[in-house]
Amino acid sequence: MLAIMTSKTELLSNYVSGQWISGKGAGTALRDPVLGTELVRVDASGLDLAAAFAFARHKGGAALRALTYAQRAALLGAAVKVLQANRDSYYEISTANSGTVKNDTAVDVDGGIYTLGTYAKMGESLGDRHFMPEGEPARLAKDPLFQSQHMLTPTRGLALFINAFNFPSWGLWEKAAPALLSGVPVIVKPATTTAWLTQRMVQDVVDAGIFPAGAISVICGSSAGLMDQLEAFDVVSFTGSAETAAIIRSHPAVTKKSVRVNIEADSVNSALLMPNEAAGSDAIDLLVKEVAREMTVKSGQKCTAIRRIFVPEICYDAVAQALSARLTKTTVGNPRNETVRMGAVVNQEQLNSVRDGLAYLKAQTSVLHDGNTHALIDADASKACCVGPTLLGTRDAAGSDAADRIHNTEVFGPVATLVPYRNNDLNHALQLIRRGEGSLVASVYSSDPVALAQVVPELSDSHGRVHVISPDVAALQTGHGNVMPQSLHGGPGRAGGGEELGGLRALNFYHRRSAIQASTAVLSQLQ
Ligand code: NAP
Repeated sequence: MLAIMTSKTELLSNYVSGQWISGKGAGTALRDPVLGTELVRVDASGLDLAAAFAFARHKGGAALRALTYAQRAALLGAAVKVLQANRDSYYEISTANSGTVKNDTAVDVDGGIYTLGTYAKMGESLGDRHFMPEGEPARLAKDPLFQSQHMLTPTRGLALFINAFNFPSWGLWEKAAPALLSGVPVIVKPATTTAWLTQRMVQDVVDAGIFPAGAISVICGSSAGLMDQLEAFDVVSFTGSAETAAIIRSHPAVTKKSVRVNIEADSVNSALLMPNEAAGSDAIDLLVKEVAREMTVKSGQKCTAIRRIFVPEICYDAVAQALSARLTKTTVGNPRNETVRMGAVVNQEQLNSVRDGLAYLKAQTSVLHDGNTHALIDADASKACCVGPTLLGTRDAAGSDAADRIHNTEVFGPVATLVPYRNNDLNHALQLIRRGEGSLVASVYSSDPVALAQVVPELSDSHGRVHVISPDVAALQTGHGNVMPQSLHGGPGRAGGGEELGGLRALNFYHRRSAIQASTAVLSQLQ
């Protein structure tokens, strides 16, 4: 738990009802996870939430809906410029509050700005309209005079974002970009631990006067009362743990008012090496590189990170050795030191959770690479929330069947498990992968394009994204864990059942679909 502080660090303001307002309490301290120092405080107590939501819904919504898609796209483009101009300060906040090295900060900060920029460009193509016809008209009778045309209209409510701690920038913009482009005002509630970066980015965009009043609000601190404000045409997009997701889903706003909800929860993602890869093949090499990168980027605090690595039994030892050799080179410690490649996890609570998760998995696995062998660089181990990368393994195919914990436990840190399947038995690998009960992403590695194409439909029913790696795309591929705005993000089952991004598909969540039944003369006016 974060301590309630009475010291004099800055108390960050909330932006609601078109004003910057401080909470009435002393606030919750945000800390540097490497040095342990207090940075700023956040507090949302005493805010008039009913007024804040009404202001966003009515004032912000009306102003946004008065603009066309192309005009709103131009506003996103202007916000990109502001964020780019202030990028250095975001890197500083991220280093201090998230404990990330520069490359990991880029995933969040630059990833967020890139996503916003991509929607600014895509939005231009929607032109000067206020709603979108969907598909072709369908005749309802023999005479084609009376037809049915589906239409997407921006919802006349607001979008509440409740975000996870690991992406304070990307998590804001990947949701705000499609919402604002759709003409829907947003209220973002960042995770308390890393709320500073979200708050600063909103502040910069608000200060630049880009969006109409009420289009974007930020509430930092407790989530208490937020869901209670939601009304029938609002939507809520949640990213975080499965436990909190269950609370959101069962809230009366969702169960009684049908507030539309999107859930992005945890996920035990997979990497699969196809059968029949000879020792030293390009495909094995690509798998090893990708897994080592995925385990260590953002200290493994990515919802899309590889948690389970499926290889034929015959490859188990070779892959274990190659991975361990790569992980050994990962220098861990203070992200301000240029020689450090992996910084901290976000706070002490998260560090404890990683340690507990490791102990839980170790009861059913062996340690193939021990994170404790990584001495910390420039960091005091008694204060710094740093942990070395650990690779676990289930020894043989029978062990993979027996070990239930690896399939249902997401350790949100630099931890993955090597899981051997019976040689030449792809079905065995697929059965094991499905024990994850639905994931955000699976990546698959082989030199055989036919075998790769055949396995895709076996994975796509239980994964939001299938990342297929063959040697020909080695230099071009965008990475297992990188979420590209052009591709769908989300996954079925335990991954939350949500869908985000995927190009203009993301706008569907913020629109209402209606069937318009009318004469062709009327329908032609709607085109
Ligand atoms: P979390 O503890 O569930 O918190 C997520 C958000 O929910 C925070 O903003 C939190 O606020 C808020 N919250 C907590 N209790 C709430 C309640 N009763 N009602 C409404 N909101 C409430 O998750 P986290 O620890 O920040 O994030 C880590 C998890 O997120 C991991 O499991 C990871 O896999 C998942 N994740 C998934 C994705 C994805 O896209 N699928 C992306 C990133 C992370 P406070 O911070 O103030 O408590």
